[in-house]
Amino acid sequence: MTKVLSRAVPFFDYQNAFKPYEEEFVGIFRDVLSRGAFIQQRDLETFEENLASYLGVRHAIGVGNATDGLIMAWRAAGLEPGDEVILPSHTMVASAASVHFAGGVPVPVECAADHLLDPEAIEPAITARTRAIMPVQLNGRTCRMDRVQEIADHHGLMILEDAAQGLGSRYRGRLAGTFGVAAVFSFYPAKILGCLGDGGAVVTDDDRLAEQVRLLRDHGRDPRTGEVSRWGLNSRLDNLQAALLDAQFRRYSDVLARRRQLASMYQELLGGIEEIRLPPAPVEGGEHYDTFQNYELQAERRDELRDHLRGQGVGTLIQWGGKAVHQWRGLGFDVTLPRTELFFERCLMLPMNVTLTDEDVVYVGESVRRFYGARA
Ligand SMILES: *Cc1c(COP(=O)(O)O)cnc(C)c1O
Repeated sequence: MTKVLSRAVPFFDYQNAFKPYEEEFVGIFRDVLSRGAFIQQRDLETFEENLASYLGVRHAIGVGNATDGLIMAWRAAGLEPGDEVILPSHTMVASAASVHFAGGVPVPVECAADHLLDPEAIEPAITARTRAIMPVQLNGRTCRMDRVQEIADHHGLMILEDAAQGLGSRYRGRLAGTFGVAAVFSFYPAKILGCLGDGGAVVTDDDRLAEQVRLLRDHGRDPRTGEVSRWGLNSRLDNLQAALLDAQFRRYSDVLARRRQLASMYQELLGGIEEIRLPPAPVEGGEHYDTFQNYELQAERRDELRDHLRGQGVGTLIQWGGKAVHQWRGLGFDVTLPRTELFFERCLMLPMNVTLTDEDVVYVGESVRRFYGARA
């Protein structure tokens, strides 16, 4: 590959992320505006139908954001005060917060070599109060769900997926979001399918659970009769956001293909460097079909590498502000998880999104190689 001269590669280019679709978006905005269709209208229903059919599930329910979605999904699934939920500590604090706000107790455990929930860390964390397992389909990769399912079945535990980063990712052919009693997706702007603000969806095959989430997102009101039969919230996906999401969802397979291509390029550029450990490479026909929501690696001298890249104009991010959930001591956790803690001393995310050009990726790769003294 040819050398690329100095350039700026922001970690996520918010200003240009939606630029190619500006005209299309303005058209959608005008259309929604002219119909006065703002809350729980046709565009929301259409997007919900398209999302459900893509996933092959009975229900998709648009909600205000994934955090609210998780809280409502837990409540609808019947989580009770004091119920313990096992989840990986390498996740957004929102995963744990959802358990807390549904009255449960989050129990963070170790991640495996692929950065996801380590199925072997689940059983040692099970107590008499354990009620559920929350796999987090992180970085666009799906956990080893056969093993998670086996453990859940053996101990009579429910599975609810935090698939905020997992839309389109598969394990053994099966899509993230289709394994548990319910799953939640996020449409935060930097997520693979992002909107122009906050948004999320709860998906499920369970008619009763879906009905409960529909009530919960809209003040407890029955969508048909308006009757209020339980306490609810206000957490609906805006109709305008749904319309924007639906337009982008039509291009989703192209987006996934491009992300996998970018990951292959990183693999090729950085594969030989001893000081860094790359995420699993995209493979065809393997157990995992990864969609690379993030490109998260582990690096020796991580902080120096980060400074070096910043000096080269390359933006990076340490996920979750540099701490696993259990390391936020102010939240009352008192466990130590050595593997996860070591991971957080070494982890770094390189730019990964469809605004990147091939030249950007080559430039990032060469900048990393130079830092470790590898031949560019
Ligand atoms: C983004 C994210 C969330 C929260 O999503 P919001 O829509 O911002 O509430 C939860 N869990 C994980 C793993 C996430 O990446």
